[in-house]
Amino acid sequence: MKRALINVDYTYDFVAENGKLTCGVPGQAIEGKIVAITKEFLDAGDFVTFGIDAHEEGDELHPESKLFPAHNIVGTSGMDLYGGLKELYEEHKQNKNVFYFEKTRYSAFTGTNLELKLRERDIKEVHLVGVCTDICVLHTAVDAYNKGFDIVVHKDAVASFNQAGHEWALEHFKNTLGATVK
Ligand code: ZN
Repeated sequence: MKRALINVDYTYDFVAENGKLTCGVPGQAIEGKIVAITKEFLDAGDFVTFGIDAHEEGDELHPESKLFPAHNIVGTSGMDLYGGLKELYEEHKQNKNVFYFEKTRYSAFTGTNLELKLRERDIKEVHLVGVCTDICVLHTAVDAYNKGFDIVVHKDAVASFNQAGHEWALEHFKNTLGATVK
């Protein structure tokens, strides 16, 4: 089975203590795990993707502008991958199996060419890691389900600022999207 990893939004603004829309400690706590899983996929020669939120400064027409403080603004360090994941990405970004792309909505599939990249490689199974479990990881998983991908969510490599939302989403992945949660 050909598989791909989708790293969702593990950036400074979503993870660092003073990030603009941070998950805080739960986000920081998964750093080791998310790096280890990404490294495992790289070492196995699997397709490793990074779907990263990218917003324009002062974009009042964007629906998130009414919901959240500005975050992951293009050209700011808030968009940088966080901690060890940034180091790992920098080390491997020339690898042909690594695909970094910007997204502007919760789902990594919305308005991006992620699906085309997966189909070109005949990938049937997507593995999800990153933040937030109940927002961008959830919406990416819902799209993956609707597009017919098999889904694996790594529960120790996803996190949210909202513990109840995190736990609800893990159940939803399993019971409603048929995902393997491990
Ligand atoms: Zn956003």
